[in-house]
Amino acid sequence: MSDGPYPGGKHFAFTIVDDTDGATVANIKPIYRLLEALGMRTTKTVWPVACPEGSPVFGSSRTLDDPDYLEFILDLQRRGFEIALHGATMESSDRARTIRALERFRQEFGGFPRVHANHSFNRDSIYWGLDRVDDPWVRRVYARFLPGGHWGGHQEGSPWFWGDLCRERITYVRNLTCNDINTLRFNPSMPYRDPRRPYVQWWFSASDAEGGPECAELLKPANRQKLEREQGVCIVATHLAKGFVFRSGEIRPAVREGLEALAARPGWFPTVGELLDWLRARRGDETLPPREWKRMQRRWAWDLAVRKWDARRRAKRRRTTPPAHPGGAPTVAASR
Ligand SMILES: [Zn+2]
Repeated sequence: MSDGPYPGGKHFAFTIVDDTDGATVANIKPIYRLLEALGMRTTKTVWPVACPEGSPVFGSSRTLDDPDYLEFILDLQRRGFEIALHGATMESSDRARTIRALERFRQEFGGFPRVHANHSFNRDSIYWGLDRVDDPWVRRVYARFLPGGHWGGHQEGSPWFWGDLCRERITYVRNLTCNDINTLRFNPSMPYRDPRRPYVQWWFSASDAEGGPECAELLKPANRQKLEREQGVCIVATHLAKGFVFRSGEIRPAVREGLEALAARPGWFPTVGELLDWLRARRGDETLPPREWKRMQRRWAWDLAVRKWDARRRAKRRRTTPPAHPGGAPTVAASR
């Protein structure tokens, strides 16, 4: 077999950005141990500070204010996983709490996060809601799924504003997602700068898989073969606390099989930050061609609609499978 384009002559790249919704030590430790055993070092987001006001949907989740969880995350970092940000905490945070969260992150991990992904409909999310997209048609359709209100992470003067800190401290932020296992096919110019969204240094995209069942589907044999054939890049955006690990501690078999099969192929398995650094160093241009952006927005809207429909179908089927760990609360519709 001839050499592929990735480090070490590998033929494709695969990693995960794990949104921390619902995560506890018990419901994610087995999947992290499996990833490690397979030689995969992925990216785990955290919430650095607790949410004392409570959270109706995400309240079972742990933060760095929980000592056993903090110890587990520090240990993951020592094992080579990348720790990233999912906002200050599980509900909206004003600027003061975001500052405290970033400082907390730096204290614990020795530096600011390099990667950030917005959480659900937190008001401090950056370039969120309709501000994610520009295409008038896509904005019209997306507006129908969105709850009211505004997202102020990038709005100077808003109590939620932290765009200046994001630009100074964070290198990569996730925006649009797709259903294609090859994220690079959806967004060949990743990572890219967007002059209309200057509080983010570099944007990246991801392949969406809400939880374990969706990830199993994404990693089915035909998709794995496609990723390798296209010499592609897959950044899975998922919630590892959601349906990957059963109460017994067993990992969902279809996910295990998919990951093991991928690990047996000539792939490169870096963290998200490492992968984006590598892609960026190879780009001649920083911008996103207008045609690519237009295509991405429309594809994102279409894929979101497909996922909504699939989710409804799976919800019925899931009642017949063994119960997963609690937590991993439902992501509010259309959040990614
Ligand atoms: Zn989230």
